[in-house]
Amino acid sequence: MPDRTPFIAGNWKMNLRRASSVALAHAIRKGVETEDLAKGVDVAVCPAPVYVDAVAEALRGSVVGVGVQNAIEKADGAFTGEINPAMALDLGCKYVILGHSERRQFFNETDEGVRVKTAAVLEAGLVPIVCVGETLEQRQSGQTMEVVGTQVRGALSALSPDQMAGIVIAYEPVWAIGTGVTATPEQAQETHAAIRALLKEMFGDGIASATVIQYGGSVKADNAATLLSQPDIDGALVGGASLKVDSFLDIVRAAQ
Ligand code: PEP
Repeated sequence: MPDRTPFIAGNWKMNLRRASSVALAHAIRKGVETEDLAKGVDVAVCPAPVYVDAVAEALRGSVVGVGVQNAIEKADGAFTGEINPAMALDLGCKYVILGHSERRQFFNETDEGVRVKTAAVLEAGLVPIVCVGETLEQRQSGQTMEVVGTQVRGALSALSPDQMAGIVIAYEPVWAIGTGVTATPEQAQETHAAIRALLKEMFGDGIASATVIQYGGSVKADNAATLLSQPDIDGALVGGASLKVDSFLDIVRAAQ
């Protein structure tokens, strides 16, 4: 059996305020610690960037990790409005979400952009969560694996096996994000298995079977268990359901 620790991460996107972010972090911490929910599961939250500092403070010394939702590859300098991996590290982050479909859609993020960001995030000693996924149109025209394969190759093909050991992939079909429509466990498993087969082709069996591949797209407390029971689904990147302590903890429980 491959030794992959399930990984549940909350993507809070551009939601909550300082007080509600800190309150949610405290509640998640309490729930995880009280029930020992991080035993055998990695857990993290990715707040809005302006509240990362406060949330990291609330989670200091806990097993719940913190991430940012994006970072650019540049060293410090004249890049108005941006943050870089060194700043994320300085705030106490462990993870950086990269290539989320909302960034691809609204901020023109490209595979090449994701590639350079991934390299910079690894260089800083952080874990990139590299998001890939097809649109509904692409799925309906049978292009899912071509699109996802291009995204995976685009972000990862230049990495060494050592660097690959620090990568998390999140398969997030665009049509399932924030829509309430989840990929069926079979649809998700099929794509996850295809991504793992591609990783095997690119990096060999050892890397392919060790890489954590999260599913994301309307994961909720009531569908998490069946999705997570699929052999190639190693966790979840959770948007909407990560904004409420009960639903997020239920998903962590399902992973456990
Ligand atoms: C996401 O944004 O990564 C996501 C999966 O959102 P949701 O769970 O709300 O579909």
